[in-house]
Amino acid sequence: MSAERKFFVGGNFKMNGNLESLTAIADRLNSSELDANVEVVIAPPACYLASLSSQLAQKENVNVSAENVHQAAKGAFTGEISCSMALDCGASYAILGHSERRHVFGETNKQIGEKTKATLAAGLVVIACIGEKGEDRKSGNTMVVCVEQLTAYKDNVEDWSKVVIAYEPVWAIGTGEVATPEIAQETHLNIRSWLSDNVSPEVAASVRIIYGGSVNGKNCKELASQPDIDGFLVGGASLKPEFVDIINCDC
Ligand code: PEP
Repeated sequence: MSAERKFFVGGNFKMNGNLESLTAIADRLNSSELDANVEVVIAPPACYLASLSSQLAQKENVNVSAENVHQAAKGAFTGEISCSMALDCGASYAILGHSERRHVFGETNKQIGEKTKATLAAGLVVIACIGEKGEDRKSGNTMVVCVEQLTAYKDNVEDWSKVVIAYEPVWAIGTGEVATPEIAQETHLNIRSWLSDNVSPEVAASVRIIYGGSVNGKNCKELASQPDIDGFLVGGASLKPEFVDIINCDC
């Protein structure tokens, strides 16, 4: 965590919940005292974006994100939503390149790059996910994979103030196997150094790099104490009351 970069906590609900349970989560956020120095973003399934964004409209510092968007403005893409549809539903962010999009739905770096361009052009902030598989880390290729993914974003970003990088090692997502603070910090620092060398030192100093992968109410404080960890992207725990504890972990 750094004084210059606003701490960011995102909740990725994935394909979980229903109108009743997700409304209850928004109610909890509305009625909880949240650290005013933290930017909070929740990403519900697309069909609940509009109702949750209107429910949270008056809550300062809490915004809504699409879990994914398509790069085309419109057309014959059954089951997809466009950036303007996400905006219409109250979203101001979009998660791109999540490991499930990459490894379950086969999205490529090229496609994620195209989505990045379209999403930024539409005026949404991109939560740009990257991360290596367990086998990549074991073979010493963590940064090789992360740099390929970062390059696809870089080729499509002009204004880095509209990007939050989410480092999410695939082996830590939904597994309960959180990266140690040392491993996460080391990789965040490597990502920041890459940004400094390949984008600019100013961007490297200002872009938020958040960590995702089995973050919960117990492990968040120590992770947040690392100098290059600027927040979290939270999956499973964002559906639970402890999400508020994660948001407030630095209070
Ligand atoms: C995620 O899906 O982005 C994620 C980090 O999931 P979890 O917190 O459940 O590991």
